[in-house]
Order: sequence, then C-alpha cells, then structure tokens
Amino acid sequence: MPARSGAQYIASLKQLQPEVYYQGERVQDVTAHPLFAGPIRAIAEQYDMQLDPAYRDVMTYPSPSSGEPVSTSFLIPYTKEDLVKKRMHFKLRADQNFGFMGRAPDFMNAFVTGWALGKDRFARADPRYGTNAWNYYEYVREHDLFLTHMLVAPQTDRAKTSAEQEDPFLHLGVVRETEAGLIVRGAKMLGTMAPITEEVAVLPYGGVALGDDPYAVTFAIPNNTPGLKYICRESVAPSQPNSFDHPLSSRFEEMNCIAIFDDVLVPWERVLVDGRPGSREVINAGGAAEAQQTALPMAARMLSQMEFFCGLAMKLADAVGITGFLHIQEKLGEMLSYLEVGRSVFYGAEATAFPLPNGVWVSGGLGLRAFHLQTSSQIYQRMVEIVQILAGGGFFYAPSRADLDNPELRPSIDKFVRGRPGIPAEERIALFKLAWDVTGTAFAQRVNQYVRFYSGDPIRNTAGFYLAHPKDDLFEAVERALGRREGQPIPLSPADPGIPFRRRPESGSLSGAYPAASNPAPRRLSAEG
Ligand SMILES: Cc1cc2nc3c(=O)[nH]c(=O)nc-3n(C[C@H](O)[C@H](O)[C@H](O)COP(=O)(O)OP(=O)(O)OC[C@H]3O[C@@H](n4cnc5c(N)ncnc54)[C@H](O)[C@@H]3O)c2cc1C
Repeated sequence: MPARSGAQYIASLKQLQPEVYYQGERVQDVTAHPLFAGPIRAIAEQYDMQLDPAYRDVMTYPSPSSGEPVSTSFLIPYTKEDLVKKRMHFKLRADQNFGFMGRAPDFMNAFVTGWALGKDRFARADPRYGTNAWNYYEYVREHDLFLTHMLVAPQTDRAKTSAEQEDPFLHLGVVRETEAGLIVRGAKMLGTMAPITEEVAVLPYGGVALGDDPYAVTFAIPNNTPGLKYICRESVAPSQPNSFDHPLSSRFEEMNCIAIFDDVLVPWERVLVDGRPGSREVINAGGAAEAQQTALPMAARMLSQMEFFCGLAMKLADAVGITGFLHIQEKLGEMLSYLEVGRSVFYGAEATAFPLPNGVWVSGGLGLRAFHLQTSSQIYQRMVEIVQILAGGGFFYAPSRADLDNPELRPSIDKFVRGRPGIPAEERIALFKLAWDVTGTAFAQRVNQYVRFYSGDPIRNTAGFYLAHPKDDLFEAVERALGRREGQPIPLSPADPGIPFRRRPESGSLSGAYPAASNPAPRRLSAEG
C-alpha cells in the first residue's frame, strides 16, 4: 500500500480496536470516543498532507520494493540530498502541529529505520533477528503504519535491577519460548498515543543491567494482540474543546498509557532480541547511525516549537505595548538567540554530514544531540517562563468564546479587554489564550514534562554526553596554553567541517545512553564487590 490518506488510517484504527481503558472503562471504539477526536484528526491531517500535491514531492519517495510513493521518513539517506529531503519532510510535519506532537507517525518511522540500519547488531544472536529488523521496517513502510513505543520499565524500585524486583514479571520480560514465539509478561511505561496507534515497538532503554537479559527482549506487535492492554492517564485536553478557547490543547493532546502484557505471544518473525543470555550485550551496543535516525525529527520538532514560542512572545508583548521596555527587549532577544543557535545546529547538521562505511549519510557533529540536551533541560522551560513573565495577569481576564458571542457583554469586552491602540479585544484575548494553553494549562504542564523526559532523563543523558565526548582537541588547547607545544604549528580549522567529528564515538544510542555509573547493578554482585 502506498502512503496512506487520513481516512485510510482511521478505517484501519476502527478495525483494530485495541484493549484500551479510560477512567475505569473499556473504550469500545477509539475512533468514536471524544477523548481521541482531536489527536486522530491531527494525525489524519498528517497522512492527508503526504498525498497533497503541495507537499507530496517532499513527503514521499518511490518505495525501493514496490515503486509506490512511501513516506520520506523511511528514506535511508545514501546522499546528502536525501538528508536534505528528510530534513524538509520532518520540519514540515513538525510545523503542522508547531512541534506539539512529539510522537506523530514520523518519529516511529524514523525509529524503525534505525532498527533496519542496526540489523547486523540484532543478527549477532541469531541471523533471523537481523532479517526480522529489516522485514519489519519494510512492513511498516509499505503499510504506512502508525506506531507507539514502550521502552521503560515502570518505576517500581529504581535502585534494583528488573530481575531483583519483588515479582520477576513486574517489568516486562520473557516467560518462556514456544514454537510460535516468545511469551512475555509484565509492564512498560509510557506509550505516548498508544490508543490511536496500530502497533507497538518494545525494547529496553538506558542500558540493560547485568542479569537482566530476559528484560532486554525487543519486538513489535499489533496493538490488538491478545493479552495486551493499555490504561490511559487522565486527559489533559479540555472537556469541551473549542479552537478559540483552547487552540492547541483541543487538537494535540498526546495520551500516555501504561502497557500491561499478560502472557502475550510474540511471533518469532517479530522478535529482534529474544531475552536469552547475551541479549544485554546486543542492546547495550546500540549504534550511532541508528540513533541518528530519530535525532532529526526530534530536532525538527524542537525547532518548530522554538519558532512558535518566539513568534508568540513577540506578538503577545506587542499586543499590550510592552516591546519598548528594555528588559522586555532583552528577554525577547534572549529567546531569539536560542532560536538562531537552534537553527544553526539544525541546518548545520547537513554541513557536517558524511557517509558511514555502509554508505548511509549521517550528520557529523554532536550538535543535534547537544541541541536536544539543552532544549530538554533548559531552553524550553526558559521560553515558557519568559512568556509567563511577559503575560503577567493578562491570562486571567481573557473571556471565553461564549462571552464574546453574548451581545450584552460584547461592548464591554471590546472596550475594556482590548490591547494597545490597534489591537482589538478579540485579538488580545486570542493571543493570551494561546499563551495560556502552552504555558499554564494541564496540557502545557504535560508538554513541559514531555520535553524534559521524552528521550530519557536529561541528567543522565547530559552526563553521558560528557563521558562520550571526543575531548582530545580541547586538551590540546590547554597543552598549548601551558607552553608544552612550543615550535609546533597551531592546528588549522578544517576546510570540511565534518572532518573533526568523523571519529565520533559509537555511544549516545537510544538503548545504551545512560552512563554505567547510573545503572543499578545486581545487589548480589555489589555485595561481592
Ligand atoms: C510525557 C511523556 C511521554 C513519554 N512518552 C514515552 C513513550 O512514548 N514511550 C516510552 O517508552 N517512554 C516514554 N516516556 C518515558 C521516558 O522515556 C522516561 O520518562 C524517561 O526515560 C525517564 O525515565 P523515568 O520517567 O522512568 O524516570 P526515572 O528514570 O525513574 O528517573 C526519575 C528521577 O530519578 C533519577 N534516577 C532514577 N534512576 C536513576 C539512576 N539509576 N541513576 C541516577 N538517577 C536516577 C532521575 O535522574 C530522575 O530525576 C515519556 C515520558 C513522558 C514524561
């Protein structure tokens, strides 16, 4: 099947009917439940975009197997032009939702592309697992499926390994093998958008501890596989959404769930890591080219969000006539400076790109990773804070659409709730509602927490960045400053900006990202020293 339309996605979802629970009740039809109406519409729009003549050349490419147009997010970049096309595609998709949908189909498309590129790693334990990784990538690409992923074991007791928890199947692990496949049991957090996706990819994140091989199990199955259930958190979308009062939260709520696997059968052709001894090593050896595949959509999402916040802050400030004040200008300048660094990193990733020995192009620098660390742990929160500082109490006298539509109230609202001369009440209210939607509501808090944690714990990720960073040239500068390089030429900066990074270490992968010091070791071994 070529790249799908929104209607095809919804029809597939309707047929699938995964086991989803919300507020204690089974959701009988996710496509008919008001909880999911906004996000399903937003995702359907994304599918429709790829068929739109205005976008289809960027958003699709001919499938290497069928020749039919398939999503560009699956494109394996064998040229620099491929990388540019992917960047344009990811940025367009992110711009559709201003970066507020982190787990739209693109992200997992890139993720399974990483799996395909990592096929040799999966094949280490058994050649068929490498084949499975590649076949699954092709299957998702050709059916244009929407996936969620479940990486993290529930927080039960973080000081212990999975094997050491009170019950060996609190964390998802392999119970036994059968002729048909693996039987898995336990739980995983957090499947973003899980109820409205079609398949779930399951793997461990952050490094697998010694003795935890059965929990390194890695696979993908349809969401309606018997024994798999999703329990949703409370919605952060407004209960009575309208696009004026809740411009983004009414459209882009990304539900999160815990997944419970109750002796679920995973067919052998869907297994990438089987949980036998040695699985830990396979997972912990994740490669850079794999991780790179998701770095680009993540950076695109963040950049779209930064552009949105900068535009919003400036319009908000202008609406109430505060752009002339020095400290407001300083804060807007601060936001714009973050944005321009972000743009340089995002577009500069292509300038430093180079082909790996297998011909796959990757960006050379560590900039995309650094951009992720900075935005997730600091810049996003600062942008939210600046918008709040600019808005003052203005959030709290923004009447609703219903008030504006009341002819008795409207004259007073027009008179007293307007902004500076030239900014009518409706415009000022719309801007402040938008700003509250992304900085103050439950939706905004959830996005804030998402940005902080969506790709792992920022503290351990940043520590891992320090450990893996190639530091030699930085130490060389200090040696020169100490006078220990007398008579030696000062190294010229390279004409090709990709060169200094070609020796970048094979770390920072999705699965092995946390430093060893942050992974709990089995107590038995710790006690033995
Ligand atoms: C909104 C949102 C959406 C998400 N969507 C998805 C998704 O779609 N799929 C998915 O798989 N995951 C998803 N995640 C989960 C995400 O991957 C995790 O939140 C992230 O990996 C951090 O793990 P954790 O939440 O268990 O925090 P923990 O690892 O439990 O950390 C909690 C705190 O304890 C500290 N801590 C815990 N253990 C250690 C240690 N060993 N060493 C040092 N410090 C430690 C951390 O620094 C942190 O401050 C999502 C998270 C959020 C917030």
